[in-house]
Parts: sequence; C-alpha cells; structure tokens
Amino acid sequence: MEKPYFNPKIETADIDYLDKLKLRRLKQTLKRVYEKVPHYRKKFEEVGVSPEKLKTLDEIRYFSFTTKEDLFVDYPFGVLSVPLENVVRVHTSSGTTGKPKAIFFSYKDIWAQAELIARSLVMSGAGPGDILQNSMTYGLFTGALVMHYGAELAGLLVIPAGPGNTERQIDLMRTFGTTCVHMTPSYALYVSQVLQEKGIDPRKDLKLKRAYLGAEPYTEETRRKIETLLGVSVFNCYGLSEMGGPGVGFECPVKKGFHIWEDAFLVEIVNPETGEPVKPGEIGELVLTTLRRESMPLIRYRTRDLTRLIPEPCPCGRTHLRVDRILGRADDMFIIRGVNIFPQQIEAVLMRFPEVGQNYQILLEGYDELKVKVELNRDMFDGRIERLLALKQELEDKIRAEIQVRPKVELLEPGSLPVSEGKAKRVIDKRTL
Ligand code: ADP
Ligand code: ZN
Repeated sequence: MEKPYFNPKIETADIDYLDKLKLRRLKQTLKRVYEKVPHYRKKFEEVGVSPEKLKTLDEIRYFSFTTKEDLFVDYPFGVLSVPLENVVRVHTSSGTTGKPKAIFFSYKDIWAQAELIARSLVMSGAGPGDILQNSMTYGLFTGALVMHYGAELAGLLVIPAGPGNTERQIDLMRTFGTTCVHMTPSYALYVSQVLQEKGIDPRKDLKLKRAYLGAEPYTEETRRKIETLLGVSVFNCYGLSEMGGPGVGFECPVKKGFHIWEDAFLVEIVNPETGEPVKPGEIGELVLTTLRRESMPLIRYRTRDLTRLIPEPCPCGRTHLRVDRILGRADDMFIIRGVNIFPQQIEAVLMRFPEVGQNYQILLEGYDELKVKVELNRDMFDGRIERLLALKQELEDKIRAEIQVRPKVELLEPGSLPVSEGKAKRVIDKRTL
C-alpha cells in the first residue's frame, strides 16, 4: 500500500483515540455554536438539548439537523460563530436557484482544510515532484482554491489552469508535463474526446498519472472508462462547500469508497424520510457535523447525498471510516411513471457499452416520457445503419432492465451535446404534466 502519510499520527490513530478526540471536539463545537450563534441556541432549546448534556458521540442524534434553509437565517452572517474581523474568506456554493449559500473561513479554517487535502493527495501517492493541473473553476466555488492550497501544502507544483479552453489545457499538459489533474468527471470525458480527435495518445504523449475527479456523482463504469481513455488512475474526491469544500472524503489506493477524515467530521447516515440512523451498510443520507471548523461550524448538516457505510477496516492502514461513492443526490432523483430513478443508474448502463462515447443527457418530456440522448464513438457512423439500430434496441432493453421503464434512445455523433466545464446537467425536465 501507498506510504508515507502526510499526518501519520492522525491517519492511523486507533479507534479509541479517534473516538475520544471526536467527542472532545464535538463538545467544543456544540458549546461554540450554542454560545455564539443565537439561531443554534434557539434550535437546541426548542428540542431541549444543550452541549453539556451530551456524554457520548451517539447522543448527537438528540440534536436538531441543520439544513440548507438554516444557512439563510439572518443571511449572510447568521450562522457565523466568530466576529467578522476573524473571517478571511468567503465562498459560495454553485447553488442552482436563488441566493447562493455563503460559507466563511477563518485563517485557521483555510489551513485546516488544506491539511485535509494534503493528506488526501499524499494518500493517493502524490507529492513533491508532481505537477497538478487544477482545472476546476477558480472563484466563488470552493473546488479550485481549496484544492490549490492543499496541493501546495503537500509540495505539489500547481498549475491554476481553471476549466475550459480544452486546447489550452492540453498545451499546458504538454508544456509542463502535468502528472495529475483535478476536474469534474464529465469534463475529463470531454478532454479525452478532444485528445482522441487530435490524435494525441495520453500514454505516449503526456505524463498524466492521476486524475482527481469530483464535484458531481459518477459511476464505477465512468471511472473505468476515464482510466482507460486517459491512462490514469482516477481518485474520487468528495466535498461540499458547507463542509469547507473538497477534502471531506477521498479515496485511498484501495479505491473502495472514500475515507472521511473523522478528526474533522462526525459522520452519520440516516434514513432521508425519518431522520433515524440506518443499519451499518444500509443506504441513507450522509449527515455531517464539523469538528474543527472555527468560523462556521455546522451541526448535523443534511448533505442530501446518498451513500452507505463500508463497515470493514481498510487494508491501507488508515483507521478513518469509509463510505461508498455517492450513489446519488436526493435532489437529482426523478420520478417517471411512478418509478424513482437516479441518473447514475442510466449512466452505469451506458458506460458499459464500448460503442458509447463521452457524453449523454436524460430528457423527461411529453406526458411522462423518458428519452436518453447518447453520443457514440465516431467509428459507429460509418453508414452501417443496421448496427446502429441494433445498438439502439440493446441500449433500450438494458436500461429497461435496470430501471423498469423503457426509454427512447437517440444516438448522436460525438460533440452533439452541450459540454459542461463545471458540473454537468444530466437531466432536463420538459414534461407537460
Ligand atoms: P452545490 O450543492 O450547489 O452543487 P457544491 O459545489 O458545494 O454545491 O457541491 C457539493 C455537492 O457536489 C455535494 O453535496 C455532492 O452532491 C456533489 N459532489 C461533490 N463531490 C462529489 C463526488 N465525488 N461524487 C458525487 N457527488 C459529489
Ligand atoms: Zn484506505
């Protein structure tokens, strides 16, 4: 397994030690928000809890959840727990509608998160000598800047490329000998398509070794496809602005779920309907409590992301728990003809087909119709119509078998669908019902 560690004492701490640390930090965090954030005090009083009553980690379940809506109380400074003069940075989430969530960082918060990233990168085998092309969006989005600081802390050379302008991205890779990239999986697929079209073989012409892909859900099938096309080892990285951005969960070389850094986050997985804990290993909503954040701690934050605990200890030697890749976002689920569907179920089927190219889109239209638009590899358009018809039929059958609803599949040439540089928009709902 990969060694060394960035912070071996914490990364391999025994469970007892970690539990004690978590409890101590949890109490401090609860006390901090109770004393400094009137909104939290009110919430705690409403359900009759107070920080000094908490004796064990499990008792966190008596405290109220925090949801997105809580972040809009006395917006934008309502849940700050330090004076404004101690805050040195603000990020906002990419939020699709309305006001963006505002997330604040103290100087300590910035470096605490950077340290989590540094641990994660070293865990993946990266370090001094590696050249990281950071192709996430720089700016209000946490993705790029937070990764940037962490990578520098771990001693990597960072190219602050930002997203888009794919030709320029490829030039940068060639000029500097980029060894690692950080981008969304949908953009990685697109980059691989452009490389193909330009006749560049990443294995021969580039020095890429690792791709850190996150910010949106993707399937194991997509990971494999990107690994093959780019000749890299893909590491899934998970984070959300509310928890300080990337660095919350990161895969180790075992690549069976991500480790969540437990000295920084308390993990719960709950039934999204009842809010009660699920059994270990069952799928539920990830709920996180920050244990180290100073300026804006959040208690039992409902991420809306679905996953499950991986109960077995990890052979890599790190003791921090693992959760499965995000199986879907509660917000992305759609219902068609009475069936609940996640876009990833369709993606998994598509990406198993070698004929399928790099982009797809799901359309809900008409009364309650499902259409899947999918780009194929260029060599599929050689005039052999019967081959396309057979593939269309097979895709429809396989998707039907997976989700119980028969879609209408539309096959497209590469480059037909809109490309996203940031998070991909996979589902478009134009239904008239
Ligand atoms: P927004 O909710 O507006 O997209 P963020 O930019 O903070 O705000 O994105 C965080 C969300 O992105 C997570 O809650 C999760 O749904 C998704 N996400 C981030 N990384 C991953 C990943 N590796 N796998 C799946 N989903 C991810
Ligand atoms: Zn591990």
